[in-house]
Amino acid sequence: MDQIKVGRFIAACRKEQGMTQANLAETLGISDRAVSKWETGKSMPDSGIMLKLCELLRINVNELLSGERIMAESYDKRAEENLLEMRRQIENKNRQLLRTEYLISFPTVLAGLFMCFVAAYAELPVWIRIAMIAFALAMILTVGFISVGIEQKAGYYECQKCRDRHIPTCWQTNLAMHIGRTRYMKCPKCGQRSWQKKVLSKEDAEV
Ligand SMILES: [Zn+2]
Repeated sequence: MDQIKVGRFIAACRKEQGMTQANLAETLGISDRAVSKWETGKSMPDSGIMLKLCELLRINVNELLSGERIMAESYDKRAEENLLEMRRQIENKNRQLLRTEYLISFPTVLAGLFMCFVAAYAELPVWIRIAMIAFALAMILTVGFISVGIEQKAGYYECQKCRDRHIPTCWQTNLAMHIGRTRYMKCPKCGQRSWQKKVLSKEDAEV
C-alpha cells in the first residue's frame, strides 16, 4: 500500500468536498493532526473510522486503499464491510489478549511479593521460608514467560527506523529491555536496533 499516494488522494477528495482538514477532523471526532498525518502519508486511517471517512469523501474503501478512483470495479459495499469487520475482529482479539496478560501478571506478582514478605517477617521454620520464596519466584517467572508469550503473539512490533511491522521470536521478546510494552529490539528488516512499539494490526498506524 502506497501511503503517500493514499494521503494525496485523501487530500484531493477532501478539497473536492470543500472541506478543510479541521472540518473533516471535527466531523470524524478526531484531531487535525491525525488528518494531516494521513495526508502526508505518515499514517493510515484506523479501520474504525474508515467507512465514515469514505462516506464523507464520497469514495469507497477500495478506492481509499488504492489511492485513486476505480471506475471499472462495481461498488460492493458488503465485501468492504466484511473486510473491515475481519480486521476489527483481529484487533479486538489482540486487545483482549493483551488485557489478559495484565490480568494474570499483576495478581501473580502481588501474590508472589506478599509471600516473600511473609517469608521474611513471619515466625516460621527456615525451610518453610525458603520453600515459600522459591515457590513465589517460580510462580512469578512462569507467569512472566506466559505473559511475554501472549504479548509476543498479540499484534506486532513496529520498528522505529523503517516502520516495518513484525512478530519477533520468543527469545528476542523475553530477553529484550522494555518499558511497558515498548521493547528495544533488532529489526529483522533493516537490522537496526530501536525501541519498537506494540501495535495491534499489520497495516494500521495509530491515529
Ligand atoms: Zn526496521
